[in-house]
This record gives sequence, structure tokens and C-alpha cells, in this order.
Amino acid sequence: MEKLTKIVATISDLNCSVGFIRSLHEAGMDVVRINTAHQQPEQTMDIVKNVREVSHKIPFMIDTKGPEIRTNNSEQGISLEEGETIRLQGHATKQSNKDCIYVDYPEIVQVLSRGSNIMIDDGDIELAVIEKHPGYVICRVQNSGMVRSRKSVNLPGIEIPLPALNEKDKEYIRFAMDHDMDYIAHSFVRNKKDVLAIQEMLDQRGSQVKIIAKIENQQGVDHIDEILDHVSGIMIARGDLAIEVPAERIPGLQAEMVKKCIRRKKAVIIATQMLHTMIDNPRPTRAEVSDIANAVFSGTDAVMLSGETAFGKYPLESVKIMTKTVREAEKSKTFTVDSEVMPHDNQISVFLSKAAVRSIQKLNTRAIITDTDTGKTARYLAAFRGRTPIYAQCYDQRVMRELALNYGVVADHMDVELSKKDFIKHTLTRLIEKGEIHDSDLIVVLAGNFGKKAGPSFVEISTASNMIQDQKD
Ligand code: PGA
Ligand code: MN
Repeated sequence: MEKLTKIVATISDLNCSVGFIRSLHEAGMDVVRINTAHQQPEQTMDIVKNVREVSHKIPFMIDTKGPEIRTNNSEQGISLEEGETIRLQGHATKQSNKDCIYVDYPEIVQVLSRGSNIMIDDGDIELAVIEKHPGYVICRVQNSGMVRSRKSVNLPGIEIPLPALNEKDKEYIRFAMDHDMDYIAHSFVRNKKDVLAIQEMLDQRGSQVKIIAKIENQQGVDHIDEILDHVSGIMIARGDLAIEVPAERIPGLQAEMVKKCIRRKKAVIIATQMLHTMIDNPRPTRAEVSDIANAVFSGTDAVMLSGETAFGKYPLESVKIMTKTVREAEKSKTFTVDSEVMPHDNQISVFLSKAAVRSIQKLNTRAIITDTDTGKTARYLAAFRGRTPIYAQCYDQRVMRELALNYGVVADHMDVELSKKDFIKHTLTRLIEKGEIHDSDLIVVLAGNFGKKAGPSFVEISTASNMIQDQKD
């Protein structure tokens, strides 16, 4: 059976041959994420072309830089010893030197106060502000390390009034629209304004590109409800999140956000360090496999690989291990239909979807089949997190690709709008040929009799052979 939990893998322009991408796709990669923070559009185009050569079913997720702060360039890095003091200042271009670290946010001093913490390079170096002066701060070095060029700077708990979109973000949003990308994953989303700024750009061109909000600081966590109102889903970006909020709070926040997304029928991706040690090692740690399995138990739509596939030594092994771990976890998972999935805008869809998914437990149905115009019906079904795949026939290529991110959905595209019965027959025949189901298996169909706008209007359950037979009569 198809795995239900999806895998997002980060692909870099340095390792993106057609053969490589094909091998990852065959091993279980469902979505390609492209991190644009260190890339130019020409390089991104290389990845896009190669992925399309492998399959037109793979969606692209363009990950933006977002409102972030980095260290400025420095000749050879600044070595810091625990306990010493160092000056820190904001400036657009000045190079750091042994007397002063420069970061690329000119107004940084204004948001800092005595006692503020500054985390550099994914938290490897921590500075504590001990004196604030006009234009600069003096910090105490909390742990030794080397401050290098263009490293991340996090200010835990501090609100940074940077605009929602910088020039590079805008360039890549235009890129996403120009090249028919599927998702924009926007970094450091703080509140709904950050996502609305993207939506405005998309609306100006009538673009269908969907937004994923990366939740990676306290503000994002605090405003999760209003953010969810305006996005297709979120990424729990644990890399930055674990620096911005105390790391020990991540598991609890993760569980809470996953539950919220499922109930609101929004996609959720658990990201970062899922197989981090496999960047250098051929086998994962016990903790890493458990992390993936627990993500599956929580009901997430997707799990994500970053450095593991972008620049690690064992990218294919990482995807294979992730797929195996996901499958095993799905086998041992207890499935319960969540009664608190919110109706949103179509009560009938929720009622029928719930009945369709319940039939898996009550009647041992083996597959759910539906057709979908916008993907909504498939997402309603997915929200109940059943243990069989949802085979979704889509009339739109983009919708088919988008659904590759959603839990349990196996989407396909139909060129012509086949009549309702034709799509059922078509899907079942194909599944029997592939050995995914047998003639005698009970199948659930969720479909509608009253046109696109009305959505689904009935659930039908019978054996695959009856459903195909019915056609021939
Ligand atoms: P990044 O986002 O890899 O772009 O930093 C993910 C994270 O912070 O976890
Ligand atoms: Mn991040």
C-alpha cells in the first residue's frame, strides 16, 4: 500500500541531476523544497527543469529568506572566548572585525536592551547584552566560538520590525508565479500581515500559488490562529524555532500545532533535523527514527528533510530510511476519527467524509475514491486521518500536484471531465491492475450529483467488482 504520510525533500542546485531526483522520488519523496536563501533564480531553474523531467506530478515548494538577520562579511571570522566582551552593531555593509561584530539589520540596537540574548549561527554562539549605548551594544560572550560571515542571528522573544517581504522574497514570489510553482513557504511568519503581503502579490496576477507559513519564532506561535486563516498550511520549522523559544518547549508546541492544523484542514509539515546525523552517517540514531515515528503518530501531513538531501553524504539512504520508518509507524499506529474537525464552509462534506473514513474501521473498506475540482473534497477526507489512501481524481494538474503534500491523498489527473461513474471505473480498474486493491475489496466512493458548486452529496460502498460491473450493465 502507498504510504500515507508525505515526505518533503530539500534539493539544492549543487546536487540535482535527473537521475538523483528520480531515485529520491522512487524512494518516497513526494514534494521538492527549494531553499532560495542562498540561490539565484537561474540555479533554481536547473532544479525545476530536472524535477519536471522526472515527473509532472511532483509539486515545488519555494522557500523564501523572509525577515531574518545575518552577520556581515568578515575577512576570516572572529574568534570569541567565553566571558570576554565584544561590541555589536547594525550596518548594511560594514565588515566585522575583532573589535566589532556587524549584523545586516541597521536598527538592531533599538530592539535590544540589557539582558537580551543574541544567538549566532543556529545558536552555536550566545551573546548577552550588558550595556546599551547609542548605536551599539556591548555583549558578554556566553560560549566560545567563531563568528563567520553571513551566519544566522536570532533574537529570542524580540519583535523585529522588519518588513514582511524583502527584495529577494519578492523576486522569488514572482519566480513562483512565472514558473507555475505550487507552494511558497515563507520564512519567519510573525502574523497574518506577513502572509497577506504575499497574497496581495499573488492576487494582483490572479495566481493560484499556495502559501505555507513557516512557524519559527514566538510571534508565529502566538498568532497561529490568525495565520491559519490565510494559508494552505504551515511548516513547523524547528531549526529556528528551537533557538527562538526554549528548545524543551518544541515537542509540546509541535503536538498542539499539528492537532490544530488537522482540525482546520490545513497542511502541516514537521521540519528540520529529522535525520540530521545522516548528513554524515549512513544510519540514523534511535532518537531520529523515534522522532519520525512520533511525527506519524501525531498525524502530520508530511515530514521534511533539509541538509540530509540538499548536501548530505547519504541523501538517498535518508529518504529510504524515512519511508521505511513512516511505513512501520503507520502499521503500528492506532487510528481514531477525530470528531472535532471543523466544518469550515461545507457541513455536508464534513459529515460525508467522516462517514467515509469511519467505514474503514467499521466495514474494513480498503480505499476511498473521490473526484475533486479544487482539492477541497480530498482535504476534507484527509482531515479524518484514515488508514487507507484517498484516491483523488483531479481535473486540474495544479490541484493534483498540490495534493501530493496532503496526508493519505494519492492524486491523479483526468484530461477530460469523465462522468462520475466513469471516473470510479477508471480509478478502480487502474488500482486493480496495479495490485493495490482486489475485486472483492470493499470500496468507498465520495462524490456529488449536483455539480461542482454543491460539492459531494453521497457516499457509496460496495465491492470493487460491483462498482466496475455496474458500469457494464
Ligand atoms: P530553514 O527553515 O531551513 O530555512 O532555516 C527551517 C527551520 O528553521 O527549521
Ligand atoms: Mn528557518
